Amino acid sequence: MKSVESNLQIITEKIAKACEKVGRDPEEVTIIAVTKYVKIERAQEALKAGIIHLGENRDQELLKKYEVLGNQPIWHFIGTLQTRKVKKIIDKVDYIHSLDRLSLAEEIHKRANRKIPCFVQVNVSGEESKHGLPPEEVLPFIQQLAMYSNIEIVGLMTMAPYIKDEQILRNCFRSLKQLQDEIQNLKLPYAPCTELSMGMSNDYEIAVEEGATFVRIGTSLVGE
Ligand SMILES: *Cc1c(COP(=O)(O)O)cnc(C)c1O
Repeated sequence: MKSVESNLQIITEKIAKACEKVGRDPEEVTIIAVTKYVKIERAQEALKAGIIHLGENRDQELLKKYEVLGNQPIWHFIGTLQTRKVKKIIDKVDYIHSLDRLSLAEEIHKRANRKIPCFVQVNVSGEESKHGLPPEEVLPFIQQLAMYSNIEIVGLMTMAPYIKDEQILRNCFRSLKQLQDEIQNLKLPYAPCTELSMGMSNDYEIAVEEGATFVRIGTSLVGE
């Protein structure tokens, strides 16, 4: 297994190249190390290598790692979030990437004692296996969130289909960006929507070219 440090170096270079290609500043892109497959030692290695943001998709695993690593890393909850699990993780996480229904928004609002930065998860590709709102439901959904004062919509999140076809991936990321523009045009104080959480191990370069500000990388950074 390669060191996280050497993986990070390669990824950082690829992100820089993708940025250069489209005239973006690499500083705009934050790497989230997705540690869901790996042990705590590997997460610690990532932090040592300079990673600040960690992503987990299960409450149990997040709590286990949090117990050791504490609130030093910036914690991203990136998985499907069951409403009844909210209270277990709400004081531990810095970002939730998987807001996709009103009942979840209500629970986050109720359990939080501060504003929680949330991403609305969008199922751009329409795959049945994927969670998230269909694109046409995203604007009406966000407009319904005004009453939940503990929720701030910082951006949109999507998972692209697991395929190689570059054009399909690109279209997927582009659609999310377009949706972001539409939300920003609403100028809702609780939904600045400045961020785009998109891109994983096999598609982050394309996502960065299309405007990602957070990439969520597991396999090619810390291993599977
Ligand atoms: C697992 C996971 C990732 C990282 O996937 P890799 O292909 O290993 O980089 C990113 N986002 C979400 C939501 C995930 O569940």
